[in-house]
Amino acid sequence: MPHPSASLIRHRAPAQPATDYDVVIIGAGSAGLSAALALGRCLRRVLICDGGPPRNAPSPGVQSFFTRDGIKPAELLQLGHQQLKPYDTVETRVARVTQVSAGAGQFELQAEGETGRQFTVTARKVLLATGVEDELPPVEGMRDLWGRGVLHCPYCHGWEVRGQPLAVYGRGKIVTGLALLVSRWATDVVVCTDGPGHLSNNARRRLRQQKIRLYEEPISHLEGKPNGELRHIVFENGEKLARHALFVHPHQHQRTNLAELLGCRLTSKGAVWINKHSQTSISGLYAAGDTTPGPQKAVLAAAEGTLAAIAIHEALTREECPK
Ligand SMILES: Cc1cc2nc3c(=O)[nH]c(=O)nc-3n(C[C@H](O)[C@H](O)[C@H](O)COP(=O)(O)OP(=O)(O)OC[C@H]3O[C@@H](n4cnc5c(N)ncnc54)[C@H](O)[C@@H]3O)c2cc1C
Repeated sequence: MPHPSASLIRHRAPAQPATDYDVVIIGAGSAGLSAALALGRCLRRVLICDGGPPRNAPSPGVQSFFTRDGIKPAELLQLGHQQLKPYDTVETRVARVTQVSAGAGQFELQAEGETGRQFTVTARKVLLATGVEDELPPVEGMRDLWGRGVLHCPYCHGWEVRGQPLAVYGRGKIVTGLALLVSRWATDVVVCTDGPGHLSNNARRRLRQQKIRLYEEPISHLEGKPNGELRHIVFENGEKLARHALFVHPHQHQRTNLAELLGCRLTSKGAVWINKHSQTSISGLYAAGDTTPGPQKAVLAAAEGTLAAIAIHEALTREECPK
């Protein structure tokens, strides 16, 4: 059945090649939903594939999201889905995209729906909004407390743990920078390097200057409270250090290998490279949110989704209105 909005679309020769959708958005986090909203408002035929929970699912609240400070992650996305309802050219499917192939002016995507049913769709443009996955250090208890007692970002969570005894986990330059940052929110901050910290004399001096103590003893495990907050860091020598939260800057990798399979250029940190129009190194394939380089926050992902949507709509318009 034609979409009710179809009658509003200006009379133009049908877009070539004929595809099921103008755009398929892979990933329904802040980036994907925000892009879907902007493209829906452009009367674009959009499919958004919702393949699982967002990166911040273990967290009790999305902090520092303009007008939604502290909202539950699932509730934020539910609002995003709800606000797509008036845009009848936007379709959402719970499905994991398993393959994308680029052809002449179009993409073919294979996906697996909730019941395991496979389907194939075609689109003129594709937006990767698939996010990243954090690789936590292999310390017992770290994964269980992730998002409550073990935190990654003081901009997201520093305020909630302000004034409490805090720890920062890691080694070398990265832990020094993170500890100095975290010391903005608390006076009692320690660095735990879990073995030799590989800190320069200058780094040690900077930590000392801010009264940040250094523990280089290997960690045995983290002890948490039933609500997921941290209680103690337990060292292999048996010592227990009471802490309210521990910050860590984990390595991360792309949530899907779709960009890699397509041969997209990646940065040295594994992010999907994009140009200033949000386009990857593959023509017609765009990316937004944590998948791409730069700071990672929900509100930034949402903004990047909008930017990508504008770039996509303008590229489609150029194709539809040749010079
Ligand atoms: C513990 C934690 C707490 C955080 N707290 C905050 C906070 O308080 N404030 C803040 O601003 N930021 C916070 N962040 C960062 C925030 O979560 C991210 O910046 C934001 O989620 C990025 O949005 P995104 O849309 O790029 O990716 P995501 O939100 O991760 O969404 C990507 C979506 O793509 C889906 N997907 C992946 N592969 C496929 C596929 N093949 N097919 C279909 N779908 C697929 C995923 O299932 C997911 O739903 C936190 C992060 C973590 C880890």
